[in-house]
Amino acid sequence: MFDRSVAFITGGAAGIGLAFAHHWISEGGHAVLADLDSGSLQAALTHLPEGSARGVVCDVTDTNSVDTAIDSVLETEGRLDTVLNSAGIARPETSTDISDAAFASMLDIHVTGSMRVCRAAHRAFAGRGGTIVNVASVAALSGMPRRASYTAAKAAIGGLTRTLAVEWGREGIRVNAIAPGYVRTALTDVLISEGKLDDRPIRARTALGRFAEPEEIASVAHFLATPSSSYVNGHTLVVDGGLTVDGNWYPETDGSRLA
Ligand code: NAD
Repeated sequence: MFDRSVAFITGGAAGIGLAFAHHWISEGGHAVLADLDSGSLQAALTHLPEGSARGVVCDVTDTNSVDTAIDSVLETEGRLDTVLNSAGIARPETSTDISDAAFASMLDIHVTGSMRVCRAAHRAFAGRGGTIVNVASVAALSGMPRRASYTAAKAAIGGLTRTLAVEWGREGIRVNAIAPGYVRTALTDVLISEGKLDDRPIRARTALGRFAEPEEIASVAHFLATPSSSYVNGHTLVVDGGLTVDGNWYPETDGSRLA
């Protein structure tokens, strides 16, 4: 039995999820990493202090897998305090050609997957309250070519977050989301290496001029997961280095000399 706050982190073996685990543990918590395969979980655990985290194989597209993983938290750690829904994929496809199956699977991973975990977490919070942080994206806020399924899924996460916040607030459960801009993780590294993402115009369109490091997203998720944000509920917090507020259409200049 643990006396430390326990966070269940989907997609916890990599990227933003693993960075959140680091942050959570450094602040005194215990992390349960939930991800698709035991090999990547084992590799992730080697980066965390011994005894501070556990891995559980979990596919968020499978209700039984999610329920079993959350049950294991109650059996092993004895309590659940926080969930980070960070499991996700990126798969750019042209909207004229995308199959029903491909579109549906993107929604299944991101939206229904998050819902499965939220529902199981609600049971596990067992009337003691808790916090949930879902992971949306700046893709929820704008149209992005070849990202119809991803933008639809990420926009839906905002609606899911708001509704659960309203339904569960009186039970002491806060539900919020983060909407990261571009983050340096395997997800973007693979797209860049496959020629499906060009980081140069993105950096040019981002006021801070760079991608985020995963830790810079994790620290904001940590804020939403902990009492520092005790009156924030149903909110999607944009963490994008100024990408979505940038109205300078001449990114090669600072805009000051333009009419
Ligand atoms: P990542 O690829 O580094 O990590 C994602 C993890 O999710 C992987 O370990 C993967 O195995 C896991 N995963 C995928 N499908 C799963 C499933 N069905 N069940 C359980 N685990 C599964 O990616 P990341 O950049 O850390 O992305 C995390 C989240 O942040 C995703 O939801 C992504 O859409 C979102 N996001 C990422 C960026 C970015 O630029 N990297 C920007 C905005 C939002």
